[in-house]
Amino acid sequence: MSLRRIDLKNSGSQLRRCEKCGKALSRRHIGTICTECEQDAIYKDVKEFILHNDVTELEVADHFQLPLETIQRWIKEGHLSYKENK
Ligand SMILES: [Zn+2]
Repeated sequence: MSLRRIDLKNSGSQLRRCEKCGKALSRRHIGTICTECEQDAIYKDVKEFILHNDVTELEVADHFQLPLETIQRWIKEGHLSYKENK
């Protein structure tokens, strides 16, 4: 394991920023937007999906290839409301 990588170069040329919010992205980050914006974008789709489909958390997670805990967190935080099967 050699995960330790010390970069002493101080050139900011490789610094990438999120296309949406301008937050600095880590070099290892994949994509052009930060995780938060990524989730925000997905979140909107998820919300639409839940509004128009009678689905469970599991189905949502599966459909969007998201961790179930992410969906549950969104619902818990009150961002999403879905039809509960009780
Ligand atoms: Zn961002």
